[in-house]
Amino acid sequence: MKKFALLLATILPAAAEEQLPKFGFAEQYIIPVRIHLLQTPGELNLTTTLTEKDIHRILGKVNKIWGQAGIHFAMESLIKEPAANPVLYRQNYRSRNLKWLKALRPEKTRNDDCFHIYYIKRFAANGVYLGADSMFVKDLARLHSVKGGLDEPIPRVTSHELGHALTLPHRQHVINLMQSGTTGWRLNSAEARQTRKAAAKHDFIYKAPILLKVADNYYKEGKKEKAARVYAQLASLPIDTPETRRARERRAK
Ligand SMILES: [Zn+2]
Repeated sequence: MKKFALLLATILPAAAEEQLPKFGFAEQYIIPVRIHLLQTPGELNLTTTLTEKDIHRILGKVNKIWGQAGIHFAMESLIKEPAANPVLYRQNYRSRNLKWLKALRPEKTRNDDCFHIYYIKRFAANGVYLGADSMFVKDLARLHSVKGGLDEPIPRVTSHELGHALTLPHRQHVINLMQSGTTGWRLNSAEARQTRKAAAKHDFIYKAPILLKVADNYYKEGKKEKAARVYAQLASLPIDTPETRRARERRAK
């Protein structure tokens, strides 16, 4: 009996952590994402203290998580800007309905050609998905630690909201990315399939080989700057192939 229990203990964790297929360069979906660091004079709660360096670290972790589904988030741009309508913070910060956050987005940096994530200091949840153009994450995010979980809340919260943007509902499983409020980061193969299908439906999301062709064409035509911007989206892929090496050599410095 004891031996059996021991055997189960060895087998079960492995069985619970389903092996996902490995996605190569050809299968990667590249999703452009615009990062907004809201820095609002006179309203510290609407002022993130995250720096560009932090964002690179955060996106690196986000992409390790999403690499499980062969999905890669490439920073389209990083914008530091004050929140629009900062007075709304004092009026709404206790509200559990977080829709008011949308009014904080400055008009001139919105568009429909990428995902948008806004970082601010504080609001009444760790993060919220209000549309592909309106994800919010707070500096002060706190999560319940689970065994094998991510070592830092902000990349996990960011990855979780991106999961909603790719149609995932919550799934209350200890080490899952879509569980509420924990450091879990795993996806299963059904979630990988579902999010890849969702990615394919956006007209601004391409697979890596198509982007590479675009970049190579610009490069051949001597449009080095345009080429470099597209190469940059591929250069941050956490895989090492001849294609990603070429992208790294030719990306914007
Ligand atoms: Zn959620």
